[in-house]
Formats: sequence, C-alpha cells, structure tokens
Amino acid sequence: MYSVTDPATGELIEEIENATSAQVEAAIERVHRGYSSWRLRPVAERAAIVLRAAELFAERADELAAIMTLEMGKRINEGRGEVGIVVDIFTYYATNGPALLADEPLTIKGGQAVITKEPIGALLGVMPWNFPCYQVARFVAPNLVLGNTILLKHASICPRSAAAIEQVLHDAGVPEDAYVNIFASSRQIPAILADARIQGVSLTGSENAGISVAAEAGKNLKRCVLELGGSDPLIVLDTDDMEETVKATATARMRNCGQSCNAPKRMIVLADIYDEFVDKLTKRVADYYQPGDPANPKTTLPPLASIAAADEVAAQVETAIKQGATLRTGGRRIGPGAYLEATVLTDVTPEMNAYYEETFGPVVLVFRAETEAEAIAIANDSPFGLGAAVFGTDPERNQRVARQIESGMVYLNKSGGSQADLPFGGIKRSGMGRELGAAGIEEFMNKKSIRL
Ligand code: NDP
Repeated sequence: MYSVTDPATGELIEEIENATSAQVEAAIERVHRGYSSWRLRPVAERAAIVLRAAELFAERADELAAIMTLEMGKRINEGRGEVGIVVDIFTYYATNGPALLADEPLTIKGGQAVITKEPIGALLGVMPWNFPCYQVARFVAPNLVLGNTILLKHASICPRSAAAIEQVLHDAGVPEDAYVNIFASSRQIPAILADARIQGVSLTGSENAGISVAAEAGKNLKRCVLELGGSDPLIVLDTDDMEETVKATATARMRNCGQSCNAPKRMIVLADIYDEFVDKLTKRVADYYQPGDPANPKTTLPPLASIAAADEVAAQVETAIKQGATLRTGGRRIGPGAYLEATVLTDVTPEMNAYYEETFGPVVLVFRAETEAEAIAIANDSPFGLGAAVFGTDPERNQRVARQIESGMVYLNKSGGSQADLPFGGIKRSGMGRELGAAGIEEFMNKKSIRL
C-alpha cells in the first residue's frame, strides 16, 4: 500500500493500492515498446525535451516542495533547494549529454575503430523518500538523454512526489511510454528484474533493499547501480575559526533532518581542539535546532520522514546511551509527529552498536583522535565508504588526508551536498557505480566497439 501521512502530525491523508501484476506487466511492456522509438530520436531532440523538463521543474518548484513537505516532512526551503539541484541536473545532461554521447575514434593496432555510445533498453529505478525529486533526477536525466526508457518505483511514502515528477516529464515531451511511474510493491521487484524486457536497475536506499535488488540483478545478469547508506566521517584537523567550523559541520549534519546518505555522521576531531569543538557544537545544536512545522520557512528542525523512522533513530540513541555513550544534548522523541530532538553523542566506542551503524536522523557522533593517523584510522573503521570531509587550514595536509580515506567522495573544508557535474557514489557497503557527471551517463550505456 502507498500512503501519504503527514509526519508533522501523524495524520493519514491518502492511501493508494499497490499495482496489480497485470498493471506491472502492462508497464513493463510500455517501457519496452517505448524504447524502440525513444532510442531512435536524435540525441538533440531528447536533450531538448530534457531541457524543457528542467524549465518545468523550475516553474513547479513551489508545488513540488509543498508535496515533499507534506509527504516526508522536508523543510519547505530545503524542498525548493532540492528542486534547484534537480533543475541543474536536467540542464547539465541536456547541455552536455550530446558531447558525452559523441563517437570516440580510436587508432588501434593495424587500423581504426570507433566507440559508439548507445543505450541498452528499458531500466527499472527504485527510489527512496529522503530526496524524492533529486534521487529520481540523478538516474532519469542522463538515461533519458542516452535513450534508455524508465520504469520508476518510488518509495511507498511519497506517491504524490512520484506522480508529480511523472507529470513534469510527460508535460515536457517525454513520451508516455519512455517514462512510466508504477506503484509497485517491493515484492514485485524480483519479477520485474527477471523480465527479459528490463535491462538494468538503479536503487537508492537501505543496505537491505540493496542486497535484495543486487541479488535479483545478479541472478538475472542485469546491470545494477546501488547508492546505499553511509556513515561519513568528517575530520577536523585544525581551524582558525572554530565558530564557522562548528556551524558548517552542524549544518551539514542536520540538512534534511539528518536523513542524507552523505551527511557527515561521525565528526572526528584532533585532541587539542576536541573539547572546544564538542562544547561549541553542543551549544549550537541545542540552541539552533528547534522542532517546528516544516511548512514554516523559519523552522530549523522538521520531523523525520515517518513515525517509524523517528522511533528507529530514537531507539539507536537510547541503545548507545545504555551501552555507555555520553549524551551531550537532545535524545528525546517528541510526539505526536515524527520529531526527535537534535542530538549530540560522544564517547562512542567500537563495542557499541552506534559505532558501526548509520544513524539516519539528527544525531551527531563526535570522536576524539590523538593524531592525524588515528583520525584516518577511525574514519576508515566503518563498513561504509560513501563520502567524507576534511577540515583544516593546510591545503596540502587536507589533500594528504583525503587520499587516505576509503570513500567514493571527499570534500575539503565543506561537507555533504551534491552537484550535477561531480560524480557521486560509494565503495564498501555504500554501494556500487556512480551517478552524476560524465560517469553518471555511462552506467547503462553500451560502449560499442566498431572495428573499421
Ligand atoms: P528502503 O531501502 O526500504 O527504501 C528505498 C526504496 O527501496 C523504496 O522504494 C522501497 O520501497 C524499496 N525497497 C525496500 N525494500 C526493498 C526490497 N527488498 N526490494 C526492492 N525494493 C525495496 O529505505 P527505508 O525506508 O527502509 O529506510 C531505512 C534506511 O535506508 C535508512 O535508515 C537509511 O539507512 C537507508 N536509506 C538510505 C538512503 C540513501 O539516500 N542512500 C535513502 C533512504 C534510506 P518501499 O517504500 O515500498 O518499501
């Protein structure tokens, strides 16, 4: 069942039945049929339609932001910001796509060859609720320009976002059979992946969902991109402006109420500035992040996306405290909505669950490192490897540390975020493959070698 529940109040607003098997079958047939004509449209035409989609996303930013606020509690301003990145992504692939898809001439032993960049067919997207528009955009924009078609299964708590995105794309001129939203249940995913008409799958979400989709993709020899969780480290080596460093780290952690896969979740601070960092961070988190209505632009701490999500993160905090972590501020669940106080925990050790788990909410863990080497060791002591950040005043040292971190991305003196032209993705249990930038259009591409 898909449903819209306002996480600020817990009120159930709408329920939508899951698609039947017959509807799933019809949707697969549509994107399969749609591929045969979409792939033959000149790339300039596909790019023009994707550019029109960017314009429509910009025009409908307020409407989309309001839907996200209602469905998953995103602060209204953050929703508008999210749509801004979506506009950038569609614009980036519309503008750069044709060049990225140009033939690549190759001189080889004994002659010449050319590599052509071709689509592979109809793809399945399985998308999460934390950035309902952005996550879809990363997958859809490059693949539409490339000539693939898309069957999209969105998270069951954001059906209105899913429908609004489909509407934007169709209004922009994407053929009805080149992009199809389906209210499928996750139990129907194996059958979709087993179907010969589907050539690949991209999933953003939890490790468990990733494991099950990767297993089905493997069984059926389908290409697979996974963007899973993270417990990104943020190392503070030194600073000449502690207030700014604390503000930047807190802002990055609390973005989207802490529900970003690449938010810094573990602050690792060198010993000489650790106490000052913890004091100032605790004060900042306690004073600034106050629960409120996500539709009010002045609100600093919205609800989490659902009551279940808030209960789960609150339970993780409770377990950490029981196991010996120090609660510096926050920690309390606030009802009736899905609120959790902004929380700072210190003294988390490897024996505690919180050390290796991802906390997908407004919770900061701070670790003390005696040396740079220890900071790097703590950063790498994680099953995840999505992003990371290094803060420090010496650019060379920052880079030296960045190169030793096991992750797909590192930001220097900045944290989190994402931009259209910078590849995004992780290693270890954070997933496989890349989205965005030039790399993002290659995942579901047939780079065909033609020997001349
Ligand atoms: P899920 O991974 O369950 O949801 C993401 C998407 O995957 C949804 O469309 C969901 O469908 C679908 N899905 C879930 N299980 C399966 C499955 N077995 N096979 C195929 N598709 C599946 O996220 P949760 O809502 O459970 O969030 C829990 C955790 O996931 C978070 O705490 C966080 O760690 C991680 N997460 C990471 C995100 C990221 O950006 N990397 C985004 C969201 C969550 P349905 O909604 O119908 O269940």
